[in-house]
Amino acid sequence: MGSGQVTDWQGKHVTVAGLGVSGVPAAKALHGLGAKVTVVNDGDDARAREQAAELEALGVTVRLGDGDTLPDSTELIVTAPGWKPDKPLFAAADAAGVPVWGDVELAWRLRKPGAADWLAVTGTNGKTTTVQMLASILEAAGLRSAAVGNIGVSLLDAVLGDEEYDVLAVELSSYQLHWAPSLRAHSAAVLNLAPDHLDWHGSMEAYAKDKGRIYEGNRVACVYNTADKATEDLVREADVEEGCRAIGFTLGTPGPSQLGVVEGLLVDRAFVENRQKNAQELAEVADVKPAAPHNIANALAAAALARAYGVPAGAVREGLRNFRPDAHRIAHVADVDGVAYVDDSKATNTHATQASLAAYDSVVWIAGGLAKGATFDELVAGAAKRLRGAVLIGRDRALIREALARHAPEVPVVDLGRTDTGAMLQAVQEARRLARPGDTVLLAPACASMDMFANYNKRGDAFAQAVRELGA
Ligand code: ADP
Repeated sequence: MGSGQVTDWQGKHVTVAGLGVSGVPAAKALHGLGAKVTVVNDGDDARAREQAAELEALGVTVRLGDGDTLPDSTELIVTAPGWKPDKPLFAAADAAGVPVWGDVELAWRLRKPGAADWLAVTGTNGKTTTVQMLASILEAAGLRSAAVGNIGVSLLDAVLGDEEYDVLAVELSSYQLHWAPSLRAHSAAVLNLAPDHLDWHGSMEAYAKDKGRIYEGNRVACVYNTADKATEDLVREADVEEGCRAIGFTLGTPGPSQLGVVEGLLVDRAFVENRQKNAQELAEVADVKPAAPHNIANALAAAALARAYGVPAGAVREGLRNFRPDAHRIAHVADVDGVAYVDDSKATNTHATQASLAAYDSVVWIAGGLAKGATFDELVAGAAKRLRGAVLIGRDRALIREALARHAPEVPVVDLGRTDTGAMLQAVQEARRLARPGDTVLLAPACASMDMFANYNKRGDAFAQAVRELGA
């Protein structure tokens, strides 16, 4: 199991660590290739039993309730990306000299000869949006492509399925990158880097290092954010192919080898003849939906990757125009009495919320939920002057209330003091009371949703429903 393609899986003993989104398809694929597959899983609940039964019917061995004992004669572990590197199973693998691959590594190694190039995207926030914009641009260029990874088509399906692709727009999480040591993208972008998932990675350095793996071995371009020095540092540290270029994106005027914004236009000063003097217009800022600053940054990153792949300017414009953002990402729900109601339920950390608040001049902010160890001082201090008021929901709302008291004492705050699902209607009613015409009521909770809702989708749906009730 060196670093190349494995061409003969017949009889190889592979342990798949973790059932679930990636484990079940991985087990099936490996079994189909002739490997002897054992799945180990920590949980032993009804869902796991159902999945186990399905795999066992195919001839896969499944051990439920023990994800830490390395099965005898294991030659390779294929792990679910979320499994923490400090799990005893991996210590046992290390001691036995057994390599560990994640789902992305597996997909990478299973590519067919001459398979599609990968244009890869990671970052703390904006991955899904950027990958979807990129896929839309590639499609507009007439290329056979798909948005894959955490979204849309699964990587394994894209690699093993019958559909043929020229190029894939691949979203990668820091977990997936951790377990993907031999991945070599055509070009890749790190959108931004803010503390997130530190409990998993162990430290900010380890998190950054895992994100930085996306640049390793890039052939054409390493795309970084000029406003986020950490992303540029990662490019500098990466070991890339000869001739691979560092390409920056900026919301300001681009320098040579950058994409940026000039007088309402997205322009390219990287993939043009004579970049010292020339720039190529790609699109108008108004072609980006929504045209919030962070989203323009996402569009520039997507454009940079597409241009690195050789896509013409016209396709960038058309692709951005065709793009429709996913639900709950700065989605305009309705205007009621001159106040805009915007659902950014997907803003589940402070970095995302900061970007979202920065997109509006005067905001009634609905926030709160599960803080996941975050602190809110920087966020609140930076946004204080934009806040007309705040309405707090969810379990950890006191953390935000205290930050508001410290950094924005004049901003009126309504602390709902309830975490039942019905709280959202009351939150929206309170927000309406605080808002004046021209304001935006923004749900950008900076927290996870699971204390009150099944997920961020449901939280956003509850918000939209409450807004509709206001308007009725
Ligand atoms: P991801 O896939 O990384 O979670 P999404 O595209 O789903 O990213 O966006 C998640 C949230 O992050 C959005 O709701 C928005 O609030 C915020 N966001 C999107 N792009 C950026 C960015 N470039 N910088 C900061 N925040 C962003």
